[in-house]
Amino acid sequence: MPTAASAEPIPDPDTRAEVIHVKDLHKSFGSLEVLKGVSLNAKKGDVVAIIGGSGSGKSTMLRCINFLETPSSGQIVIDGEEVMMNADGSPASRRQIERIRTRLAMVFQQFNLWTHRTLLENVIEVPVHVLKVPRGEAIKRARELLDRVGLSDKEDTFPAFMSGGQQQRAAIARALAVDPNVMLFDEPTSALDPELVGEVLTVIRDLAAEGRTMLLVTHEMKFAREVANHVVYLFEGRIEEQGPPAEVFGNPQSERLKQFLSSVT
Ligand code: ADP
Ligand code: MG
Repeated sequence: MPTAASAEPIPDPDTRAEVIHVKDLHKSFGSLEVLKGVSLNAKKGDVVAIIGGSGSGKSTMLRCINFLETPSSGQIVIDGEEVMMNADGSPASRRQIERIRTRLAMVFQQFNLWTHRTLLENVIEVPVHVLKVPRGEAIKRARELLDRVGLSDKEDTFPAFMSGGQQQRAAIARALAVDPNVMLFDEPTSALDPELVGEVLTVIRDLAAEGRTMLLVTHEMKFAREVANHVVYLFEGRIEEQGPPAEVFGNPQSERLKQFLSSVT
């Protein structure tokens, strides 16, 4: 006879919400087709590493996901909300894009801090002026974030007086200030002197450990292997291979991926 316990539904092993859903994304610049039908999903807490040679379309893909570039076609769903596009891929609703963008935060290779503002002002800018968070509250939160990335003593400093590693950690604090559901990193350590890479990776590693959903374009293969739970290899605008890091790095199937990995490690 079935007991009460056995009548309970068997729990789905992975009921996490899907945060990013990209389907058949295409992007051309004039006659140059850069993305040739890319599909990608990330659930809450996923860290997806995106690897591939220079020019394979990694940045274009991230930029399409937050509509810094207009896709040529495809479907993008963020937090279950489908981005409405016109036939040419342009967003049908500016307001929707603005709303969705507040849930995504991007960190670029070049730190993109506002040079004429102090570090604290950089971090509170969007919360205060776009999200209308009261200034006092935004400052309190900014200080917590600066503390987290190890920059408590730098809040009145201008970016020009900080090292590249400090600027990138500041850019991460600024990205976190909007409390995004997803962080998009585009080669966050590529512009740094080698001795400054570690301090930025440490911050990203902590974010991964606390369950932040992230898409991370990186050339740091060891780091990708360590923090990602899914790895996507792009080749000329297509996903050539993907899977768990142990598979992609430890047992690559495609000849192109094998070649790529031997060229970067
Ligand atoms: P990756 O980040 O993998 O190095 P990108 O996405 O930056 O590659 O670029 C992919 C291709 O798209 C490259 O050939 C690049 O020159 C081209 N491309 C990127 N952005 C533009 C643009 N705004 N206009 C024209 N071509 C572009
Ligand atoms: Mg790039």
